[in-house]
Amino acid sequence: MLDVSIRAGVLNLLLRLKGEFNLTMLFITHDLAVARYISDKICVMYLGRIVEMGPTESVVNQPLHPYTQALLVAAPRPDLAHKLAEREIPITGEIASASNIPPGCRFHTRCPYATDLCKREDPPLRGDVVPGHLVACHYAEDFVKGKPVGK
Ligand code: SF4
Repeated sequence: MLDVSIRAGVLNLLLRLKGEFNLTMLFITHDLAVARYISDKICVMYLGRIVEMGPTESVVNQPLHPYTQALLVAAPRPDLAHKLAEREIPITGEIASASNIPPGCRFHTRCPYATDLCKREDPPLRGDVVPGHLVACHYAEDFVKGKPVGK
Protein backbone atom coordinates (compact mmCIF):
# COMPACT_ATOMS: atom_id res chain seq x y z
CA MET A 1 0.00 0.00 0.00
CA LEU A 2 2.94 2.31 -0.53
CA ASP A 3 3.12 5.26 -2.85
CA VAL A 4 4.19 3.98 -6.32
CA SER A 5 7.65 5.58 -6.31
CA ILE A 6 8.40 4.37 -2.77
CA ARG A 7 7.13 0.92 -3.68
CA ALA A 8 9.47 0.72 -6.65
CA GLY A 9 12.38 1.74 -4.42
CA VAL A 10 11.53 -0.91 -1.81
CA LEU A 11 11.10 -3.65 -4.43
CA ASN A 12 14.40 -2.79 -6.06
CA LEU A 13 16.13 -2.76 -2.65
CA LEU A 14 14.70 -6.22 -1.87
CA LEU A 15 15.87 -7.53 -5.25
CA ARG A 16 19.36 -6.10 -4.71
CA LEU A 17 19.61 -7.64 -1.22
CA LYS A 18 18.36 -10.96 -2.55
CA GLY A 19 21.07 -11.02 -5.21
CA GLU A 20 23.89 -9.68 -3.01
CA PHE A 21 23.31 -12.02 -0.07
CA ASN A 22 21.81 -14.96 -1.97
CA LEU A 23 18.66 -14.69 0.16
CA THR A 24 15.42 -16.62 0.01
CA MET A 25 12.41 -14.36 0.57
CA LEU A 26 8.72 -15.03 1.12
CA PHE A 27 6.82 -12.06 -0.31
CA ILE A 28 3.07 -11.91 0.35
CA THR A 29 0.94 -9.77 -1.96
CA HIS A 30 -2.44 -9.48 -3.66
CA ASP A 31 -0.78 -7.93 -6.70
CA LEU A 32 0.32 -10.51 -9.28
CA ALA A 33 2.20 -7.88 -11.27
CA VAL A 34 4.41 -7.20 -8.23
CA ALA A 35 4.73 -10.94 -7.57
CA ARG A 36 5.92 -11.43 -11.13
CA TYR A 37 8.47 -8.64 -10.81
CA ILE A 38 10.03 -9.85 -7.59
CA SER A 39 9.71 -13.64 -7.53
CA ASP A 40 11.16 -16.76 -9.12
CA LYS A 41 8.25 -18.88 -7.98
CA ILE A 42 4.59 -18.00 -7.32
CA CYS A 43 2.21 -19.74 -4.95
CA VAL A 44 -1.48 -18.77 -5.20
CA MET A 45 -3.64 -19.37 -2.12
CA TYR A 46 -7.41 -19.43 -1.75
CA LEU A 47 -9.10 -19.73 1.66
CA GLY A 48 -5.86 -20.82 3.30
CA ARG A 49 -4.88 -23.48 0.78
CA ILE A 50 -2.34 -23.48 -2.04
CA VAL A 51 -4.32 -23.87 -5.28
CA GLU A 52 -1.48 -23.28 -7.73
CA MET A 53 2.30 -23.12 -7.52
CA GLY A 54 5.09 -23.00 -10.06
CA PRO A 55 7.87 -20.99 -11.69
CA THR A 56 6.73 -17.38 -12.08
CA GLU A 57 6.63 -17.27 -15.89
CA SER A 58 4.79 -20.60 -16.06
CA VAL A 59 2.08 -19.43 -13.62
CA VAL A 60 1.71 -16.04 -15.33
CA ASN A 61 1.76 -17.33 -18.92
CA GLN A 62 -0.18 -20.54 -18.38
CA PRO A 63 -2.39 -20.19 -15.29
CA LEU A 64 -4.10 -23.52 -14.64
CA HIS A 65 -6.48 -22.63 -11.83
CA PRO A 66 -9.60 -20.51 -12.47
CA TYR A 67 -8.82 -18.35 -9.43
CA THR A 68 -5.34 -17.51 -10.79
CA GLN A 69 -6.88 -16.84 -14.21
CA ALA A 70 -9.36 -14.40 -12.63
CA LEU A 71 -6.58 -12.65 -10.70
CA LEU A 72 -4.60 -12.20 -13.91
CA VAL A 73 -7.57 -10.84 -15.84
CA ALA A 74 -8.13 -8.37 -13.00
CA ALA A 75 -4.44 -7.34 -12.95
CA PRO A 76 -3.95 -3.64 -13.58
CA ARG A 77 -1.05 -4.41 -15.93
CA PRO A 78 -2.16 -5.16 -19.52
CA ASP A 79 0.93 -7.32 -20.18
CA LEU A 80 -0.36 -9.78 -17.57
CA ALA A 81 -3.99 -9.77 -18.61
CA HIS A 82 -3.70 -9.71 -22.42
CA LYS A 83 -3.45 -13.48 -22.92
CA LEU A 84 -6.66 -14.08 -21.01
CA ALA A 85 -8.46 -10.92 -22.10
CA GLU A 86 -10.63 -12.74 -24.61
CA ARG A 87 -11.85 -15.11 -21.91
CA GLU A 88 -14.55 -14.07 -19.50
CA ILE A 89 -13.82 -15.35 -16.02
CA PRO A 90 -16.98 -14.32 -14.22
CA ILE A 91 -16.13 -14.79 -10.55
CA THR A 92 -19.27 -13.98 -8.60
CA GLY A 93 -20.39 -14.08 -4.99
CA GLU A 94 -18.62 -13.43 -1.75
CA ILE A 95 -15.55 -15.28 -0.57
CA ALA A 96 -16.63 -18.06 1.82
CA SER A 97 -15.82 -17.80 5.50
CA ALA A 98 -12.50 -19.34 6.52
CA SER A 99 -14.31 -20.79 9.55
CA ASN A 100 -16.90 -22.48 7.32
CA ILE A 101 -14.98 -23.85 4.33
CA PRO A 102 -17.32 -25.28 1.67
CA PRO A 103 -17.12 -29.03 0.98
CA GLY A 104 -15.39 -30.27 -2.17
CA CYS A 105 -13.26 -27.72 -3.97
CA ARG A 106 -13.23 -24.67 -1.73
CA PHE A 107 -13.48 -22.42 -4.79
CA HIS A 108 -16.61 -24.08 -6.21
CA THR A 109 -19.04 -21.49 -4.80
CA ARG A 110 -17.45 -18.85 -7.05
CA CYS A 111 -15.98 -20.87 -9.90
CA PRO A 112 -17.72 -20.47 -13.29
CA TYR A 113 -16.67 -24.04 -14.26
CA ALA A 114 -17.83 -25.87 -11.12
CA THR A 115 -19.52 -29.26 -11.63
CA ASP A 116 -21.10 -31.78 -9.26
CA LEU A 117 -17.69 -33.43 -8.87
CA CYS A 118 -16.24 -30.10 -7.68
CA LYS A 119 -19.00 -29.81 -5.06
CA ARG A 120 -18.25 -33.32 -3.78
CA GLU A 121 -14.50 -33.85 -3.98
CA ASP A 122 -11.64 -31.65 -2.89
CA PRO A 123 -9.09 -31.72 -5.74
CA PRO A 124 -5.56 -32.66 -4.65
CA LEU A 125 -2.56 -30.47 -5.50
CA ARG A 126 -1.16 -32.33 -8.52
CA GLY A 127 1.90 -31.94 -10.67
CA ASP A 128 1.00 -34.12 -13.65
CA VAL A 129 -0.57 -31.44 -15.87
CA VAL A 130 2.42 -29.20 -16.66
CA PRO A 131 5.93 -30.26 -15.50
CA GLY A 132 7.12 -28.35 -12.42
CA HIS A 133 3.75 -26.63 -12.00
CA LEU A 134 1.25 -27.73 -9.31
CA VAL A 135 -2.51 -27.12 -9.38
CA ALA A 136 -5.54 -28.15 -7.33
CA CYS A 137 -8.33 -28.39 -9.93
CA HIS A 138 -10.17 -31.40 -11.32
CA TYR A 139 -10.21 -29.86 -14.79
CA ALA A 140 -6.74 -28.39 -15.21
CA GLU A 141 -6.05 -30.60 -18.28
CA ASP A 142 -9.13 -29.18 -19.97
CA PHE A 143 -7.80 -25.64 -19.54
CA VAL A 144 -4.46 -26.69 -21.07
CA LYS A 145 -6.18 -28.39 -24.03
CA GLY A 146 -8.71 -25.56 -24.44
CA LYS A 147 -11.56 -28.06 -24.06
CA PRO A 148 -14.86 -27.21 -22.38
CA VAL A 149 -14.57 -28.23 -18.75
CA GLY A 150 -15.61 -31.82 -17.96
CA LYS A 151 -16.42 -32.80 -21.58
S1 SF4 B 1 -12.06 -28.11 -9.16
FE1 SF4 B 1 -13.94 -27.36 -10.11
S2 SF4 B 1 -14.65 -25.67 -8.78
FE2 SF4 B 1 -12.51 -26.11 -8.27
S3 SF4 B 1 -11.36 -24.67 -9.50
FE3 SF4 B 1 -11.47 -26.56 -10.68
S4 SF4 B 1 -13.29 -26.33 -12.01
FE4 SF4 B 1 -13.43 -24.76 -10.39
